[in-house]
Amino acid sequence: MEAQDAIVRCARATSMKSVTAVINLPALVGNIAKIQSYVPQSKLIAVVKANAYGHGLITVSQALEQDPHVHAFAVARLPEAMELREAGIKKPVVLLEGFLNAEDVPVIAEQGFFTAIHDIEQIEAIERTPINKPIHAWLKIDIGMHRLGASRDQVQEMKARLEQSSKIVQPIGLISHLSVADTPEQEDYNREQIAYFNEVAKDFKGDLCLANSAGIISWEDARTQFVRPGIIMYGISPYADKTGPDLGLQPVMTLKSSLIATRKLKKGDRVGYGAAWTAPYDTILGIVAAGYGDGYPRTMPNGAPVLINGRYVPTAGHVCMDMLFVDLGPDSTDKIGDEAILWGEGLPVEKIAALCGTIPYELVCRIMPRVNTEVQD
Ligand SMILES: *Cc1c(COP(=O)(O)O)cnc(C)c1O
Repeated sequence: MEAQDAIVRCARATSMKSVTAVINLPALVGNIAKIQSYVPQSKLIAVVKANAYGHGLITVSQALEQDPHVHAFAVARLPEAMELREAGIKKPVVLLEGFLNAEDVPVIAEQGFFTAIHDIEQIEAIERTPINKPIHAWLKIDIGMHRLGASRDQVQEMKARLEQSSKIVQPIGLISHLSVADTPEQEDYNREQIAYFNEVAKDFKGDLCLANSAGIISWEDARTQFVRPGIIMYGISPYADKTGPDLGLQPVMTLKSSLIATRKLKKGDRVGYGAAWTAPYDTILGIVAAGYGDGYPRTMPNGAPVLINGRYVPTAGHVCMDMLFVDLGPDSTDKIGDEAILWGEGLPVEKIAALCGTIPYELVCRIMPRVNTEVQD
């Protein structure tokens, strides 16, 4: 009997997977179509910075390269844009942060990247750098975030210099970013930002690009000719009080792992580093192979849900680097090798993020390199 048990355990072990991010490409493509239905008049720029919000830069971009709704890709930095070209991506690529060094200018020209120009020094760098092709420039203006972009007193000068330059493709575009689009309570400040953008835009003949995810969904006046959906492409809500499915979106990433051990606990047994959880009754503890070394947050309090065999079981004790604990309950029949879903399908990452005081953007972005990827197509 015991020998047989050992064989069964072994068989399970061979099919057991440690932490895996399952990437659901049909969900991604469906979300794009849904986003286009919000903004039928706009061209979508798919934001794939930060490894496509942890979903895999190349996986996501290749899945959207032929998608008729996706007009271009946007990244933060030049190396991300180069990675796209090296993977054979031909669609236009926008550099949201512009460039940092004058040496980058010839590369941007050669590759035909669209670059945000947020600082006068970037214009000077272009003016003094020899290039073979003119650069596609979008003047970035500060409309209220106070992060990047021409301030009100710089707009005209920067615009004029870009328009006079033979090294810039004409007409130039205009780009900006909303700072409170995801908080409808701050309606006045948001409307002020949109109104200012649209006022400056009157003098521009080139492309206009304002809305991010929350801008697309919540603010009709921000639905410019080009829009930049990020988080909603991945089926995740930008709002604190809604999930992706609430918005008609489907989560693209499901992060899962396996139970790798179970043990009986007596009431009063203390669990994990720092003994941060004490069994309130006799129970069965599950050890899941996922920790902060995979991107599951160390700050997660006791009681966060993990989805195992169709039920939500609470985390117990501090999350470790490679493992976390769950209280499976005294009646558990869960087995070693059973799947444990940490977020995604059936367990919104928005809820998990809220429990540890962050936003879902951060959780999906910080998936660690050792996590397996499984692409569903
Ligand atoms: C990241 C980013 C976006 C996408 O924002 P979401 O909220 O994910 O839609 C759009 N524009 C800029 C400038 C960004 O940095």
